[in-house]
Amino acid sequence: MNEELWAKCVAYHGHHCPGLAIGVRASLEIIKALPIDFEAGDEIVCVAENESCSVDGIRVVLGCTGEKGNLFFIKGGNQAFSVFNQTTGKSIRLVLKDLPEMERDQKEAFLLNEPDASKLFEFMKPHFELPQKS
Ligand SMILES: [Zn+2]
Repeated sequence: MNEELWAKCVAYHGHHCPGLAIGVRASLEIIKALPIDFEAGDEIVCVAENESCSVDGIRVVLGCTGEKGNLFFIKGGNQAFSVFNQTTGKSIRLVLKDLPEMERDQKEAFLLNEPDASKLFEFMKPHFELPQKS
């Protein structure tokens, strides 16, 4: 895990917690898997299925916010994020897997540092399409 990025996320969120780690790691995996090229100016939209600590990770790492109009919520209570790259037309949905029982700090470290992302998340297609931009 990039310590500098994690420190930035913790500063934004106000504390460190496993929830924040979920959102940060999910964002990093989404950038790789979708992929997203921020330098090329890719425009992305995120639909989160919860409104918990993890969403701050999405805000900082993916730059999706309500103010910018590229962060939306649907009810469901899942640690799941559908991200649409509107520049490439590609999309992905990451869903947190059931993790083994562990202490809070251990869980946070596992989420940030586990090399095999498939132990953390299910990589799927979103259940829906976004409306076309007019
Ligand atoms: Zn938190």
